Order: sequence, then structure tokens, then C-alpha cells
Amino acid sequence: MRSAHGASVLLLTLAIAAGTLAPQPARLPPLFLGGYQVLSADFHVHTFPLNWTTLAPWDIALEAQKHGLDAIAIAGHNHLWVSQAGRWISRAIGGPTVLVSEEVVSPDPKYHLIAVGISTTVSWKQTAAQAIADVHGQGGVAIAAHPEASFWPAYDAAAMRDLDAAEVLHPDAYSSKRKYRQMQEFFARKPLTAIGSSDFHAFQYPGYCRTLIFVRQNTESGILEALRQGHTVVVDRDGRSYGDPALIRLAAQNGRLPLPDPAASGPGWLGGLSRILGIAGLLFALVFGRAATR
Ligand SMILES: [Zn+2]
Ligand SMILES: [Zn+2]
Repeated sequence: MRSAHGASVLLLTLAIAAGTLAPQPARLPPLFLGGYQVLSADFHVHTFPLNWTTLAPWDIALEAQKHGLDAIAIAGHNHLWVSQAGRWISRAIGGPTVLVSEEVVSPDPKYHLIAVGISTTVSWKQTAAQAIADVHGQGGVAIAAHPEASFWPAYDAAAMRDLDAAEVLHPDAYSSKRKYRQMQEFFARKPLTAIGSSDFHAFQYPGYCRTLIFVRQNTESGILEALRQGHTVVVDRDGRSYGDPALIRLAAQNGRLPLPDPAASGPGWLGGLSRILGIAGLLFALVFGRAATR
């Protein structure tokens, strides 16, 4: 079965090569405002395997870069290793900062919580308040994911006291006025860090909804600190802004915000080839890897 493994490795290498060679739009020059560097971030994206998506961890880094993102949180449902692999790959190819993250998906009590900047898996078999305490114990930041009304019962007084942030903008906001109102209502409950996330699985693209984050240092810890301090601005496509009022004013005066998306188009033929080769390589490894262990 050695040749099958060789073929998988070859396909995956070609996938990464095609993705890396695919034309990338020019990167935007860094933007500094009021002593901060302004970064574009998407703190909620999914990749395969383990989540149903159309992008692999190496594709998501390239795709995020293409859409002008400086940082992403790969947040797999109740697991961490894909996110860790994604960070390793993004570092290897000079991609955006990847924050190791998890989407804690709990069915009962029903909540989805993005745990950003953690190092071990946060259990979904606990209350939202317990999960948030676990995230904080690891130095991470807890974001309520798409907090629509069906998730509200899980956010009791204890969870609300310790929650850091909430997605006030998510693709659901554009597909349902009712869900948007519910996310706005949740966000208004207390001073929370404003987050806009794409929850990318297959449609749209990473950064479809995004967070502008004002950092003192463009590092993982600088980003986490800015999240804790509430130093974010989120702008929806109608120009409605959420976040730190002083930073919203700063951004409005500057006139360059929201930062434009340098690529609102598809992946291009090399990017598409990269996805196909990558999927073929993984399938090959899965099928022949399993046959080899029989
Ligand atoms: Zn979710
Ligand atoms: Zn999600």
C-alpha cells in the first residue's frame, strides 16, 4: 500500500502547490488609526474533515488571505485538531494568523459557543457558564455564536455575566430579519464585544461577515487582548455599525472603513484545482489507508 500513500501525499502536495500558485489579489497596506493597527478578522470558519465544508485547512488560509483577512479562527464543532493543523499550514505558507478555536456545540442546554485561543478541547457536556469558565481558564475568549432566540435559555445569568462577545452580524442576519433582530437584541443585553462572522461552511466565503479589530500588537495575544477590551467594529452592508463608539467614530472619520474586500469573486481555476486535488488526496488516503489496515 506504499504506492497509495505516495499517491495521497503527491495529490495533497499538488493541491497546496496549486493553491499557493493561484493568483492572489494585492494585499492591502496595513492601516493604523489612533495608535491601533486595524485588522480584518473572521472568528468563525469551518474546514473539512469533520465538518461539512468545501474548503480544506490550507484552502481556508489562502481564501481568507484573498478576501483581505488578517486573522481567522478555525472553529470546528467540538474538536480542535483541524484548527491546530490549519494554524500549522497557514504559518508554513505565510497565510493569515490562525487562532486555534472550537465551536462548542451543545444540544441540551442548546448553545453554540466559539472558544477562541484555546489549547485543549472544551467539553460540550456542560452548561454555557461552565464552558465559558473553561475557555477563560485557558486564556481564551468566549463568543456567543449566532445567538438567536432558540439559544437564549442556555445563556442564564451566570453565562451572561462572564460572556465576552457575541456575533451581532452573521449571514443569518441577511437571510432573516427576525434572526437579525434577535441577534441585535442579545447583543444589547450588556456591553459585549461586537463580532461579525461568516460561519463559513460552503456558501459565500470567509470574511463574508467580518470583524474589524483594533490591536496594539498584531499577534495572537494582541488579538485576544483586543477582543477582551471590546476593541472591535462591525459594519453591516447597510452601513449599520456596532462596537466601541470611539472606534466607530475613528473609523468613520478615516473614511477607509469598512475595509474593502479585495476579492469578492470565486477561487479561479488554480484555486479550484487545488480544492479538487486536495479532496482527491484525502479520499485516496481514507480509502486506501483503510484498505491497508484490514
Ligand atoms: Zn453554530
Ligand atoms: Zn459554525
